Amino acid sequence: MEITILGSGCGIPSLSHSAPGVLIRYHGAPFLIDSGCGTLVRLLKAGIHYTALNDIFYTHTHSDHSGDLAPLIQALRTTPGYQRTSPLRLYGPESFADFLRCLSQAYGAWITDPGFPFIIRELKQDLFKVGELQVSTRAMLHSNDAIGYRFDSPDGRAVVYSGDTDYSSEIIELAQSCDVLILECSFGETDKISGHLTPREAAEIAYQSNCQKLVLTHFYPPQDKLFLEIRSVIPQIYLGELIIAHDGLRIFL
Ligand SMILES: [Zn+2]
Ligand SMILES: [Zn+2]
Repeated sequence: MEITILGSGCGIPSLSHSAPGVLIRYHGAPFLIDSGCGTLVRLLKAGIHYTALNDIFYTHTHSDHSGDLAPLIQALRTTPGYQRTSPLRLYGPESFADFLRCLSQAYGAWITDPGFPFIIRELKQDLFKVGELQVSTRAMLHSNDAIGYRFDSPDGRAVVYSGDTDYSSEIIELAQSCDVLILECSFGETDKISGHLTPREAAEIAYQSNCQKLVLTHFYPPQDKLFLEIRSVIPQIYLGELIIAHDGLRIFL
């Protein structure tokens, strides 16, 4: 499995940390999770053409995580010389079909009827297979119906991505003994905002879940003070490998 952090920031424009997007590749098949603004371009930089996407997973519909969804559908139906016939499968939280209906009211009926097969699957606490990967989801503590994802490969590797969340037992359960835990870590202890994690909370989740590697992402600028807090607080609680994500970070496992 190969993981690429396409965007390590949030909804605040930043030259160093872009809006959220995570790419997982397994035996060449790309799986995209979230697509904040600019994800399609960063996907090209990572060597994946948007026409190669068949399965896209959304943690929630906040625009920093979903901003490039309408542009993706538009690109797939209007790329000169390209006629898509394979289905595009979109996975998202419980209100996801409604969200797409609202987008189609704003942009046009082509959002949900783009001229190629289009499948929407709404998730809460689910377990299913996509290609060779087993996918499991749990509710996260953020917006109404945010979910986190776990991807297990047949060779026994597991990656978990929280999307946005506050501290919860669900993310600890979802991440049990995984190889790579990608957690949001938005604010320091003194700037804590409900619905997001501080370094201490992220460390507690990593420790409780017994993950091998902790990758932190979803940083709000300016990040310098937060990064100092991450480096000082986390090793006191969590003894596994700590990685502070940057755009384009690749992890092989
Ligand atoms: Zn976010
Ligand atoms: Zn959010």
